[in-house]
Amino acid sequence: MLKCTGFAAEAADAPLRQIHFERGEPGQSEVLIEVMYCGVCHSDIHQVRNEWNNTVYPCLPGHEVVGKVTKTGSEVKLHNAGDIVGVGCMIDSCRKCAACAEGAENYCHGPNSWLATYNGPMIPKAKAATGANSYGRDNTYGGYSSHIVVPEDFVLKIPASLKPEEAAPLLCAGVTTFSPMRHWGVKSGDKVGILGLGGLGHVAVKLAKALGCHVTVFTSSPDKHKAAEAFGADNVVLEGDDEAMKPLMASFDFILSTIPQKHDVNPYFPLLKRDKTLVAVGALEPMEPLNNMLTAFHRQSFAGSLIGSIKETQEVLNFCAERNIAPEIQLINIEGINDAFEKIVSGDVRFRYVIDMQATST
Ligand code: NDP
Repeated sequence: MLKCTGFAAEAADAPLRQIHFERGEPGQSEVLIEVMYCGVCHSDIHQVRNEWNNTVYPCLPGHEVVGKVTKTGSEVKLHNAGDIVGVGCMIDSCRKCAACAEGAENYCHGPNSWLATYNGPMIPKAKAATGANSYGRDNTYGGYSSHIVVPEDFVLKIPASLKPEEAAPLLCAGVTTFSPMRHWGVKSGDKVGILGLGGLGHVAVKLAKALGCHVTVFTSSPDKHKAAEAFGADNVVLEGDDEAMKPLMASFDFILSTIPQKHDVNPYFPLLKRDKTLVAVGALEPMEPLNNMLTAFHRQSFAGSLIGSIKETQEVLNFCAERNIAPEIQLINIEGINDAFEKIVSGDVRFRYVIDMQATST
């Protein structure tokens, strides 16, 4: 067993604090990674605070993990000791269902869905139709830790031209916004709307610009106007500004909402062209009721989307490396994580905290 340290919460209302724990030695097809950096996603807060009613404690978050391979199992072929690699939201999947066979592990419909990097299987034993846990683990510990052990095919290669700390947010924020843009065929010349300029939203703006789109940011924060433009936004609209919305009617090819809680998407359907889609990736919970009169009139769709596959995650890393795209990060020490959570909730982060795990005292 490997002795590790990490920061975890013991209860929904408890702060994260240092814990000491053990991980198993890497199996034949697994790699041991010494964590260098870990991004702080708003999902970490939802999960730690049990806002999705499925948290297993202790909850040790972190799914934007970049580190160095320090040991490989005897059958590992994809990675070598010394490689700088990444781990996103998943560390395994059922590997048997149609989604897994198609390389869409993020939509695994095995009995326990995919194995999350932290908090165990997406469908825990108690909620699985079979009442089983095919992974044999009820809880997994994420990247707010000194080391992580992951099957080699769920480990991403970090291109040399990306700074490891800037690559970290691409492993969740990057792929979560890139995957729906790819799926819904966003292309050069399209008009794209991004709701919420936070961790996901600011990366989405950069990705959409790199795809050649005309990008409008809808923000609730007037003071983010300049930053939105610096990220490449062609237009910035303050949420609720009806006058600014009027000239935008029926002009968008795609709208992506990254707002992290229940919200009203109805005002945005009149902005979409016929047959186009609004995808909400931010709120994983019941939304304000949809007015189907709005969507019916121009045959529009409302959709969700969940992270991205391993293949798509590698694609977004490569895409950003080739186009010199980097998230806007603020490095923190793990000791500052509880303060960072508060600042994310109050909207003070600019725009993604990344924990420097090497600066952590053990
Ligand atoms: P952030 O907190 O970094 O950003 C969210 C942004 O949304 C804020 O910066 C703010 O932007 C806007 N916002 C926040 N609260 C409100 C509100 N009440 N009304 C309107 N706008 C608001 O979060 P992340 O980007 O890290 O994550 C966003 C969401 O995406 C989270 O809920 C997370 O769980 C989810 N997520 C979903 C995934 C999936 O697979 N579907 C994967 C990863 C994350 P502004 O100031 O511009 O208004």
